[in-house]
Amino acid sequence: MNNFIVGNWKMNKNREEAINYIEDLKLFSKDIKDTKIVLAVPFTLLESVSKSLNGSKIDVCAQNMFYEEKGAYTGEISPAMIKDFAKYVIIGHSERRKYFNETNEIINKKIRAALKHDLKIIFCIGETLDQRNNNETKSTIETQLREGLNGLNHENIKNVIIAYEPVWAIGTGNTATSKQAQEVHEFIRQLINDLYNAEIASNLIIIYGGSVNPNNANEILSMKDINGCLPGGASLDPSSFIKIIKC
Ligand code: PEP
Repeated sequence: MNNFIVGNWKMNKNREEAINYIEDLKLFSKDIKDTKIVLAVPFTLLESVSKSLNGSKIDVCAQNMFYEEKGAYTGEISPAMIKDFAKYVIIGHSERRKYFNETNEIINKKIRAALKHDLKIIFCIGETLDQRNNNETKSTIETQLREGLNGLNHENIKNVIIAYEPVWAIGTGNTATSKQAQEVHEFIRQLINDLYNAEIASNLIIIYGGSVNPNNANEILSMKDINGCLPGGASLDPSSFIKIIKC
């Protein structure tokens, strides 16, 4: 499978902008088949976007959540609240790790909490530039995977999509080469094979994120272990997002 495309709006768009975008996207994506399109929108837009996507094949995704069920956590959103509007949730995005100090342990708690509510998880992992330059890419990825997936059984893991997002490639315009990305994707699949089994590893969806745009998407998506992509900046404009989907 190489057709799983997630657009991450990050902290962008108000309601009017979102609704106009969705109208365009629905129109453009009418004849797209065999591709899973997912839109990760801010919490404030989950309800309106899920309503306007009703009846379409495009799914809604939250960009984060807290791991507690409910209670005195001012400003936080629980998995049950997300479940009212979205099928998917992004967990472990590098911007959450960097600006909100999310550790592998916190990310693991979030993944487990999301699973309890039958949410599908887009679990982001990736090395920083320093880690890559110090030859620590594989050890970083391995630690993030082992700790993030700690305690997940063979059934749980089927609800997880892995997004390999090298931190140095996010929002920088410096995308990984298709060879660099393929090498890490292959390594991730091998680790999942070791942690679970061959069938789970071969069915696992592993997508690439990091400055994907309409000009580089084809090349990245042609690689054997790359099953889709996660554009951020390039998903903000419906026509560039559609061009990526068409790749
Ligand atoms: C992202 O939001 O995860 C991302 C990869 O962003 P960008 O495509 O802008 O690098």
